[in-house]
Amino acid sequence: MNNRVFATTLREPKELVASGLAAAADLAELEEVASRYAIAITPDVAVLIDAGDPNDPMARQFVPARAELSGAAGENADPIGDHSHSPVPGIVHRYPDRVLFKLVHVCAVYCRFCFRREMVGPGKDSALSDAAYATALGYIRAHSEIWEVILTGGDPLMLSPRRLKQIMADLAQIDHVKIIRLHTRVPVADPARITDEMVEALRVAGATTWAALHANHVRELTASARAACARLIDAGIPMVSQSVLLAGVNDNFEALEALMRGFVECRIKPYYLHHGDLAPGTAHLRTTLKHGQDLMRRLRGRVSGLCQPNYVLDIPGGVGKSPVGPNYVLPHPQESPADERESARETRYRVTDYCGDVHLYPPTPG
Ligand code: SF4
Repeated sequence: MNNRVFATTLREPKELVASGLAAAADLAELEEVASRYAIAITPDVAVLIDAGDPNDPMARQFVPARAELSGAAGENADPIGDHSHSPVPGIVHRYPDRVLFKLVHVCAVYCRFCFRREMVGPGKDSALSDAAYATALGYIRAHSEIWEVILTGGDPLMLSPRRLKQIMADLAQIDHVKIIRLHTRVPVADPARITDEMVEALRVAGATTWAALHANHVRELTASARAACARLIDAGIPMVSQSVLLAGVNDNFEALEALMRGFVECRIKPYYLHHGDLAPGTAHLRTTLKHGQDLMRRLRGRVSGLCQPNYVLDIPGGVGKSPVGPNYVLPHPQESPADERESARETRYRVTDYCGDVHLYPPTPG
């Protein structure tokens, strides 16, 4: 980490060069990256970057790289198919009982692997107009199967407490909306935004608020970030985590273990470990599914169950998320015709324990 204090959020390649976070020789290419994808590194995040380490996991997440100019097979501007499931602007209705409500398209920081990188940032999609907001609210009101509304974006905590308070009240007035979940990186990227006023704005009668923190490396869980999360949790807002498995950031056992233990120590239940989406120019940050499964197997073998996230893949095209962690239960191979007859009324399984040893689970009677 560096000892510098950063007064403002860094948004321009020349600011990155001036602050020592990027090389002057890379400026032209970084300007080209900046013309495609937004850049923002808050002072809280900038101080975590070790400019002397070419493989620094914080730099890989936030400092733009020339590799972002290269496309790879299968990459897509809308990798998880938001557009194909958007009945009205601002709403993504992919699963029956919940919707995404995309209120803003700006974030405190812009992650180099962002799955919505073609949609977020200044000059991309704008915030919802009042008319579009009313239409989106009307859609939620008209669909009684919607039990949960997930505020995302962009980052919903970029809105003012006053605006959020109104949105929370609007949603809580809809009888069938019981859960309002916010997906945010603000507690780590700009913890000072989690003021008492902000916390108060998120608590609403008539619905339960949850917050999902996006963080990918334990170094993001600074004392300030932990205190910001504690303010939310102490106010009765339960928290879960979501992380992205990223090459050179957290794709080794020690980094993943430290991150998951860090979450639990903050009273944040590890929820999702996302396999990297096929967002344009992010191939250098993706791992293989097999590597992700191997890491999950090691995590299961060595770390408390409290620290286990679900390893998931968003199937391209808007199909939805699937768990892609290792499979611990397989049908036991049949050995003889007699076994085949038996298989019609009984099932045996090969179950792998946390050490990797295989056991047979007995047939189910009846
Ligand atoms: S905070 Fe979320 S939406 Fe914003 S750039 Fe990062 S991953 Fe994308």
